[in-house]
Amino acid sequence: MAGGYVGRILWVDLSNGTHEIEELPEEIYRHYIGGYGLGARIIYERQKPGVDPLGEEAIFGMVPGLLTGTGAQFAGRYMCVGKSPLTGGWGDSNSGGFFAPAIKQCGFDGIFFKGKSERPVYLLVQGDKIEIRDASHLWGKSTIETEKMLKEELGDSRVQVACIGPAGENLSFISGVVTDRGRIAARSGLGAVMGSKKLKAVVLKGNAKIPVHDRERLMNETRRFLRRMAIADRIVKWTNKGLLHRAGKLMRFLPFHMRQEAILWRIILKKFGTSGILAFSVEGGDTPVKNWKGVGYIEFPLKRSARISDANIIKYEVKKYHCYSCPIGCGGIIKKTDGRYPIEEGHKP
Ligand code: SF4
Repeated sequence: MAGGYVGRILWVDLSNGTHEIEELPEEIYRHYIGGYGLGARIIYERQKPGVDPLGEEAIFGMVPGLLTGTGAQFAGRYMCVGKSPLTGGWGDSNSGGFFAPAIKQCGFDGIFFKGKSERPVYLLVQGDKIEIRDASHLWGKSTIETEKMLKEELGDSRVQVACIGPAGENLSFISGVVTDRGRIAARSGLGAVMGSKKLKAVVLKGNAKIPVHDRERLMNETRRFLRRMAIADRIVKWTNKGLLHRAGKLMRFLPFHMRQEAILWRIILKKFGTSGILAFSVEGGDTPVKNWKGVGYIEFPLKRSARISDANIIKYEVKKYHCYSCPIGCGGIIKKTDGRYPIEEGHKP
């Protein structure tokens, strides 16, 4: 952060289609940093107590991290924030992909929405241009269709889109906000908060320079970190999925626990994504089977849990990818043509 940093957040009032830019002093960032912290501070301060999360006075925000877009690693996620219609308490939900840096590249440390539109709309920020546009033709469309249609009508495949589908429009309490044709900020029902505001999508493209106080030091630290991460790449090359899978099975029977190095997590995530920890999370009771009413190792004994194992999921993977500024690269696109539930193209769970 540059000394005397002054950040900017964008406020959009959907009741009358206006917007304003608010400047935030460095002190706010020193206390609340960014992402979740900055979002919580803004909402705590500006939203009245007791508001209906789907009402006119509820605030919904999208906030990237403090280091997003600076070249720092693991800084490519953004946080959706608001009051959760699911719990009536604090709601937050985050997602990777490429939407977070787009907020910073538009010159903002967060975008906050208040009020409700009477008709479906989307927010378009392209450089200095900020517009609320009609989204009636997109209402009812899935998130994948919506992103495709917006890119086509804007004639630009590089705009970043965050949108809701029919679940959010119909105020489902388990609806989320989707970017990158399938990455979802899924928790807290914040898709319904967007839906209640008739906000179908947020579309961003900018090229604002992101200030860094000491860029050389940041880049040196990043390079040092990446050198350490490269060790995991070499280990992944020595192994194959069968070996890792067998090692995982063996560990289930050991009568003791082993300390797990962070590098082990890197290897598992790089190879399998979070599907690499699903089976043993289920067996160990750390997965909400039947919304925590079920007992993992009873509902999914070893033979059954093998069916949801990492190897069974990644056999459908046709392409791997990294989210923005993430050296892990656990993302994968899957294609499944067999069985009862074929998938034409989708993100790996
Ligand atoms: S590639 Fe995987 S680990 Fe990296 S940000 Fe995306 S989801 Fe997270």
